[in-house]
Amino acid sequence: MKRRVIVSVLLILCLLSGCGSMLLSEEEKTVSLFAMDTHMTMTAYGNQAEEALDSAKGCIEELEKALSVTDENSEIYRVNHSKGSPVTVGDDTKEVTEFALIMAECTNGAFNPAIYPLLTAWGFTTGNYHVPSQQQIEQLLELTDYNQIVLTGNEITIPPEMQLDLGAVGKGYASDRAAETLKNQGVTSAIINLGGNVRTIGAKPDGTPWRVGVKAPDEDGHIGILEVSDCAVITSGGYQKYFTDETGTRYHHIIDPQTGKPAERGIVSATVVGKEGKMCDALSTALFIMGVEKAAEFWREYRDFEMVLITDNNEIYITEGLEDSFSLQEEYSLYTLMVLGP
Ligand code: AMP
Ligand code: MG
Repeated sequence: MKRRVIVSVLLILCLLSGCGSMLLSEEEKTVSLFAMDTHMTMTAYGNQAEEALDSAKGCIEELEKALSVTDENSEIYRVNHSKGSPVTVGDDTKEVTEFALIMAECTNGAFNPAIYPLLTAWGFTTGNYHVPSQQQIEQLLELTDYNQIVLTGNEITIPPEMQLDLGAVGKGYASDRAAETLKNQGVTSAIINLGGNVRTIGAKPDGTPWRVGVKAPDEDGHIGILEVSDCAVITSGGYQKYFTDETGTRYHHIIDPQTGKPAERGIVSATVVGKEGKMCDALSTALFIMGVEKAAEFWREYRDFEMVLITDNNEIYITEGLEDSFSLQEEYSLYTLMVLGP
C-alpha cells in the first residue's frame, strides 16, 4: 500500500515537472541514405518512427530505381532509349511525368522535362563539362518540345531523339511519398531532408515550428531561417552544381529552355514553400529561370505557394505570407530584404 502511494506521488511529480511527455512518447529516430545523387536524412518521432522510416527509405529507393536517368534498368532509361516506341511505366513514373507536363504548361516551358540533351551537352550528366557551340545548342533545343511527349494511361511515348529528365521534380515527389508513408504509419512529427529539399510533418514534438535554413549562396551558413509546420521547403540554386571555364565564367545546371544555356536572370537561389514537395520542387527550378519580375508575376497569378528569391545583387525577396516566418540572419544584414505583395 505504502509503495503504491510513493509510486503514485512520484508519477504525479514527474508529470508536473514535464518529464511526463518524455515518459509518454517521443522517441527520436533518424535514417540516412544516399539516393538521387544526394545525401538524405529523415528524422521522425514517436513509437512507430523506426519502422515508418524504414518504409519511407524503401519508398525513396524504389522511386530512384524508376526515375534514374543513368540506371540502365530504370523506367526513365527505358523511355529514353525506346526509339519512339511506347513504354509502359509504373504509377509513380506516370504520376511524375503527368505532373511535369502540367508544370511545363503552366510555367510556359520554363520547367521543361525534355531538357536532358542540353544538360548532357554541357556535361552535367557525365562530369565532362564544356561549353557547347551555339550551333549545337540550337540543334539540341529542337529536341526539347515537351508537347511531343505522349502519356496514355501508363504508357509513355517520346520521339526517338528526345530524352526525359525528371530530376527537377523527382526529389520533391519523393519527399511527398516519404511523408505520406510516415503519416500512414502513424507519424505526426518528422522532418525529411533530401539534400536541401525539406518536407516537414506536423510541428516539432514540443509543438513549436520546424526551423528550416535558407542556404547562403556559396557559403556554409544560412542567410535566413524559415519557421514552418507541415509543408515543403525546396530550393534551387545555381551554386548547387556548376563548373568554371578557363576565363573564370561560371556555368550552372539550371538550363533556360529558351536559350539552352544556364539561366541568367539575376536569381542565385529560389526557395519555394508550399503544401506539396513536387509542386515546390518544379516551381523552384522554374522561378529560378524566370527571374524576379516574372516569378513575382507568376506568384501573383497562382498564390498557392510562398517563395524566397535571392539575387546576384544582394537582394532577398520574400512573399508576404512569409513575413512572420522568415528571419534574416544578422551576419547577412548587408542584404536588402523586400516583401512582395499584391
Ligand atoms: P533543381 O535542383 O530541382 O532545380 O533541379 C535541377 C535539375 O533539373 C538539373 O540538374 C537538371 O537535371 C534539371 N533541369 C535543368 N534545367 C531544367 C529545366 N529548365 N526544366 C526542368 N528540369 C531542368
Ligand atoms: Mg526543382
